[in-house]
Amino acid sequence: MFSFQNTSLMNYLRKKSLENLFGKQPKSFENDQKYSSLFASHVFTDAVLEQYVNKETYNQVAQAVNKGSKINRRYADQIAASLKAWAMSKGATHYTHWFQPLTGGTAEKHDAFFDLQSSGKPMENFEGTQLVQQEPDASSFPSGGIRNTFEARGYTAWDPTSPAFILDKTLCIPTIFVSYTGEALDYKTPLLKSIQSLDNAATEICKYFDKNVTKVNATLGWEQEYFLVDKSLAASRPDLIITGRTLFGHQPSKGQQLDDHYFGSIPPRVLSYMKELEHSAIQLGIPLKTRHNEVAPGQFELAPVYEEANLSVDHNSLVMDLMRKIANKHDFIVLFHEKPFEGINGSGKHNNWSLSTNTGVNLLSPGKTPMSNLQFLTFFINTIAAVLTHESLMRASIASASNDFRLGSSEAPPAILSVFIGKQLTAVLDNLENVSKGKLSPEEKTDLKLNVIGKIPEILLDNTDRNRTSPFAFTGNKFEFRAVGSKSNCAKSITVLNAAVAQQLEKFGKEVEDLIEKKEMKKDDAIFNALRDNLKGIKNILFEGDGYSDIWIEEAKKRGLSHNQNTPDALTAYISKKSISLFEQTMVFSEREVMARYTVDLKEYIMRVQIESRTLGDIARNHIIPTAIKFQNVLIKNVKGLKEIYGNDFQKHAEVQLKIIERISGHINEINKGIVQMVETRKSLNKIEEEYEKAHAYCEKVLPFLKDIRYHCDKLELVTDDDLWPLAKYRELLFCR
Ligand code: ADP
Ligand code: MG
Repeated sequence: MFSFQNTSLMNYLRKKSLENLFGKQPKSFENDQKYSSLFASHVFTDAVLEQYVNKETYNQVAQAVNKGSKINRRYADQIAASLKAWAMSKGATHYTHWFQPLTGGTAEKHDAFFDLQSSGKPMENFEGTQLVQQEPDASSFPSGGIRNTFEARGYTAWDPTSPAFILDKTLCIPTIFVSYTGEALDYKTPLLKSIQSLDNAATEICKYFDKNVTKVNATLGWEQEYFLVDKSLAASRPDLIITGRTLFGHQPSKGQQLDDHYFGSIPPRVLSYMKELEHSAIQLGIPLKTRHNEVAPGQFELAPVYEEANLSVDHNSLVMDLMRKIANKHDFIVLFHEKPFEGINGSGKHNNWSLSTNTGVNLLSPGKTPMSNLQFLTFFINTIAAVLTHESLMRASIASASNDFRLGSSEAPPAILSVFIGKQLTAVLDNLENVSKGKLSPEEKTDLKLNVIGKIPEILLDNTDRNRTSPFAFTGNKFEFRAVGSKSNCAKSITVLNAAVAQQLEKFGKEVEDLIEKKEMKKDDAIFNALRDNLKGIKNILFEGDGYSDIWIEEAKKRGLSHNQNTPDALTAYISKKSISLFEQTMVFSEREVMARYTVDLKEYIMRVQIESRTLGDIARNHIIPTAIKFQNVLIKNVKGLKEIYGNDFQKHAEVQLKIIERISGHINEINKGIVQMVETRKSLNKIEEEYEKAHAYCEKVLPFLKDIRYHCDKLELVTDDDLWPLAKYRELLFCR
């Protein structure tokens, strides 16, 4: 459907879609069933499993889910048989291992249950081996050099912690994806390892407070922002289709300055799309809860109830896939790019994160007793300490060519990591910092318990001072990582956060043990002392002011916080000694795997900029310049005509036309000059072998051309006859639906 070789076709599409949009009715979608009765009907849930298999097999799976134990072949066959029976009863014909390679999307290769027996008799077949492991050819997925060309095999392995589901009559089995030599080639593998590592460390700490805690889960609730653009209008925008963002487009007279979109009434066509999306998502067990208009025109958000982090990450990837498909049905395209429109707010993906125990306690929510509040403080302070230690790595975990356009552009958090906790919790930390060294007197303890720790629940009840400019904010019972890009896989940032907190908790546990053993302190004295010691550095990362201001940038510099404004620079944090040792210690990545990820991310950066640069050059030279010349010819003809009528007096009558003719020539010259230089620059940079050097050069030397060339193209948009212009304009893309 998208063919844009031809300027007149683009122009036609633009006009035709605008015409069609007049009075366009929403594709109706009505559902009269309660969500609670639809929920997870397409998921092989724990309850379904229990119905299908015997107690022994069921326990095996439960063990694997809770303790990460292996499921042996005999049980796997039984589970496969029940999966097949269940899936076929729901009309499924195919199965696939479903995984999340480093491309950022999801991957699936469907196989039919259908098979032929040696006798030629047809049958439906699916066995334990097919459930547990598959060997897709890994050679076309990014690997960062891990996979030798002669060893193209990779394998996918069943992740029993995320239940199988049916999508479009295909049974999808969530899996990890690793190279034949065991290195991770996906986002799930390191995420699962970070979850495990965090579970181990956090469970140990919980034992100080409650012996019944045997497992701690990281929880994640994402908020996904996105844009919807009419599909046929978008068809006239090759830049949007190819790069996910507009490389051209003059600001509309009305953008978001009136703030009249945010939380406004949802446009009917959009609402209809949202209803169908929710209907599908709910059946897949994705607990969508919130939907609303976002700040920018054409921008929306959705958010689910939070879940265990691995499941939540899968659900985010799955929902993004659903959104693309369902948007298409409703004649929209959905944009996940962090900055699809210049001068208009971009999209993020807030990652709300917390820790929850098998006993049902949210460790970042204060409790009813002083002890449970001390537990809250312990996890609260250690999380902040972890972010402080690994602030540059956290920044690296959200780095991408597209998020670079959003971070720090006075609508989104800056590229500096800081933590917001609010005035009152800051005061609590101040009090804690003054705790005496060594054993606390009974009076001091009572005072702390009553007046400091004891007050926390009240404080948090009216914790209204939220700071929207903070990249990492405490919001009452969870931390919210707001700098994450809308397009990115949440696993990237959550893996780093989990690992950092796991490492910090382990360190904290050792400190407490040392105080107990060497200083013969009681448990709570030791905890108070260790907390106080950990508080010292923390001030450095706490920031309550305006994160968008220049003052903060100066201040952060003084504090020694990193401020990497572009992806190539930000990514170097991945390969610092500190990060590699974090990853090795928490067993999230080997050094080889870290190096591979770093390379994959740098390569992706280079390719993204390269593709944008090529696309921009193509559109500017082959569509915009010819259109401008066409209009210039109209003007020239007009001037010639005026000359015929008025003779030498024509100048007076052709003043405006002559000025525009000259202006068009000026812009065309600049555009052409820019493209020639940009292409030359690319050619010379492509000779650079080293990836960081190359990525950095692409950032410094190629990106500026995109801005300059665009400037002149956008000026041409302003002077050229609207009737000739091939690209749908900002006002049309943003407001027509
Ligand atoms: P907003 O940030 O827009 O004001 P909320 O504060 O209500 O909205 O945050 C909603 C998000 O926070 C949801 O995605 C929800 O699932 C998530 N969330 C709430 N509690 C937790 C928790 N304990 N762990 C992880 N995420 C949580
Ligand atoms: Mg939020």
